[in-house]
Amino acid sequence: MNKLLFICLLLVQQLSFAAEVNVYSARKEALIKPLLDRFTEETSIEVNLVTGKADTLLKRLEVEGKNSPADLLLTVDVARLIRGKDKGLFQAINSSILEQTIPESYRDATNQWFGLSLRSRVIVYSPDRVNKSDLDSYIDLADEKWKNRICVRSSSNVYNQSMVAAMIANYGIEKTERWAKGLVNNFARSPKGGDRDQIKAVAAGVCDVALVNNYYLAGMLESSQKSEVVAANKIKLFWPSQDGRGAHMNVSGAGVLKPAKHKKEAIQLLEFLVSDYAQQWYADTNHEYSINPNIESNSVLKSWGKFKADDLNLGLLGKHNTDAVLLMDRVGWK
Ligand code: FE
Repeated sequence: MNKLLFICLLLVQQLSFAAEVNVYSARKEALIKPLLDRFTEETSIEVNLVTGKADTLLKRLEVEGKNSPADLLLTVDVARLIRGKDKGLFQAINSSILEQTIPESYRDATNQWFGLSLRSRVIVYSPDRVNKSDLDSYIDLADEKWKNRICVRSSSNVYNQSMVAAMIANYGIEKTERWAKGLVNNFARSPKGGDRDQIKAVAAGVCDVALVNNYYLAGMLESSQKSEVVAANKIKLFWPSQDGRGAHMNVSGAGVLKPAKHKKEAIQLLEFLVSDYAQQWYADTNHEYSINPNIESNSVLKSWGKFKADDLNLGLLGKHNTDAVLLMDRVGWK
């Protein structure tokens, strides 16, 4: 065979076997693409990224079934990871790197999903109108002293559902329902908007305290929009339940999909996402806590100090999600 032809054939063969991995991501492109590009640089594995709304992607994967081109689903909130598992979308994988890096409470017991970054649902408050010493636990927010002073988004939001599911896991349905009734009684307004809107509402004096995910406050403090920085500087973060269970934690995470044609590459990508580089990136860019306790926090996260995290196994939240949704409906949490 002519040498040139041989080289050409070799090239064609290599191209057709060019390593790649297909990712469906509920994380916005800006919050994940730079990391994926770095992965490609390091491994020469191309990442084909499809982004979409979390629940839309879950539905799409169900419809596509075994014909889905996707290898890996990246999404936020453990309730969605568990939903994916319950729908039979994921496969179990073996990776000693993932098992060693990710604490047991933040990954599936059957290795079908893995937490990749941590966030906490915290109390934020106006230091002008709230004495820090009056704040205590999530449970305390049902106390009458908070009447007409609390803002929180709607019960259709998965972050609230997971927080209530965690309360059910910790305290049982009855106590959680009494608490939720008291909390709703204390709302300053009917729930509306996202977490950033609750922060803005506290800053504007619509309410005195709110429940939000920590990275929204950090994002606003470091925002390029001056109005966000101004609002965020008017409020402070409080770590709830430090004498009890600790602050409620949740994850962003991922699972390798059942029909994955690039399973090896998908696992490689997951392992990259828990590497020191990626974990530092999550802290610096997304203002989330690293799943790996040895990684330095970003400066804003650091300024909030160390805190006690609830060590509840997040796998339990899926079990209580339906009860949480029904309970919030019963107590009139819109
Ligand atoms: Fe979010």
